Amino acid sequence: MSIVSIERCEDYEIENVYKVLKDIIENSDMPKVKNKTILLKPNILSDSKPEACITTHPAVLTALIRLLKEMDAKKILVGDSPGLHSPKFKPKKSKIYQVCKDEDVEWVNFHKKTKKKKIPFIDRKIAVTKTLDEVDFCISVAKFKTHELMTTTGAIKNMFGLVPGLNKSKQHVHNPTKKGFAKMICGLFSVSKTEFAIMDAIVGMEGAGPGNGDPKKVGLLMASNDALALDISQAIIMGHNPLDIPIIKYAIKKRLTETTKIDEITYSKLNANDLIIKDYKRIGKDTVPTQRPAPTFIADRCIRCKKCIKICPANALTLQKKKIVIDEEKCVRCYCCHEVCPAKAIKIK
Ligand code: SF4
Ligand code: SF4
Repeated sequence: MSIVSIERCEDYEIENVYKVLKDIIENSDMPKVKNKTILLKPNILSDSKPEACITTHPAVLTALIRLLKEMDAKKILVGDSPGLHSPKFKPKKSKIYQVCKDEDVEWVNFHKKTKKKKIPFIDRKIAVTKTLDEVDFCISVAKFKTHELMTTTGAIKNMFGLVPGLNKSKQHVHNPTKKGFAKMICGLFSVSKTEFAIMDAIVGMEGAGPGNGDPKKVGLLMASNDALALDISQAIIMGHNPLDIPIIKYAIKKRLTETTKIDEITYSKLNANDLIIKDYKRIGKDTVPTQRPAPTFIADRCIRCKKCIKICPANALTLQKKKIVIDEEKCVRCYCCHEVCPAKAIKIK
């Protein structure tokens, strides 16, 4: 049975987060953690200050680690791999690395050891972190956010971080449509050993997510024994029909988890349908890449860091006369450039 537990949490004070997290975990059928090795996968899309709301808040991770220790977990690992970072990356700005040090758990560098895994639904191999072979299961510790390409990001999409670095943006070239990308994400999730999911929805992101939107107070913490059910709940709270979200639609079709119908979800605490935020700035829906707009570049905001050029999987960007120039014929509208731009210099119209 897919159980989602949602409770109010107004701020990131560690005592409050701990109390609410304990409550929702106790009410969402978490798998046994005693003597288990568990990988926690926060969302560290790009390492940035917690108040930017791009990353899972360190207080949520801290509280979760403390609870897992109290439940006698054998070993807790924390890891993620943003698209652009050096092989020695540590998430310092987001304070997630500090949490690992303070709570005495291991930060895992996904770049160190990878293994190619055959991914269902797309029938191709993708390199993922070998850490997966060392753990009993993973917990997706997601952030409540919009996503320019996939409409929302959530607990399922969060596990894309198991694919190290720039290998992720390459997947957009192989899977340029939303449906194709949703297939790949669902296939990857099916080999990710994710057995539980948490969502930091205390302050989420609205507008141009996942990297360039605005913080939005939602005031909730969410947990589920079913990542799909959690993502459906997020979509409902944002005001979507969940079936408009490509990953959710494909996951239901393929019976990725136990949730085969939206109204089958059991809400053990608050019900997502009573929590809809009417004025949430959502992403609209479109279906094929040619109908999606190409990104536009705002020259006077650009700091010429070239991060967009590095991450672009289609080699569609160049720096010419101190301006980023896009080749729209090459662009596959993946919006990876928009996700990594640190200066809000890229707009999706
Ligand atoms: S220009 Fe941006 S949206 Fe287009 S393919 Fe490159 S990274 Fe993706
Ligand atoms: S990532 Fe943004 S700031 Fe950096 S070069 Fe590209 S457009 Fe300019």
